[in-house]
Amino acid sequence: MANSPTSNPYLRSDGPPFVGILFCPECNNMLYPKEDKETKTLFYACRNCSHKQLAQNKCIYVNKIVQDVDELMNIVPDVVTDPALPRTDCHPCPHCGCRDAVFFQAETRRAEEEMRLYYVCRNSKCHHRWTE
Ligand SMILES: [Zn+2]
Ligand SMILES: [Zn+2]
Repeated sequence: MANSPTSNPYLRSDGPPFVGILFCPECNNMLYPKEDKETKTLFYACRNCSHKQLAQNKCIYVNKIVQDVDELMNIVPDVVTDPALPRTDCHPCPHCGCRDAVFFQAETRRAEEEMRLYYVCRNSKCHHRWTE
């Protein structure tokens, strides 16, 4: 994948091609991409009716998952001891249920993910990392 940084965030040369917005054939509302975690497929679903359709381009799903995993792996577990990081008890760890986690904003070059937050469980036996 070509990774040439560009100064214009609206003209990205990396990543999958933009597939456009899909509309529901039943009711003409916008379709939203969803992941089926069991079958590992990406599909589009209507929030207005029960229409669903498989996504044509499965590469989008694969790329997204690979990137998420990479970014989570890059988090150093030591961040839990960093006093500069904010802590939360409103986001229980999905792994151990511990209600003590630090969180921070991802440093990503992808403009559409600027606001993504990463959480790290402060349970010393867990240190699970996740994102929302
Ligand atoms: Zn619909
Ligand atoms: Zn945990």
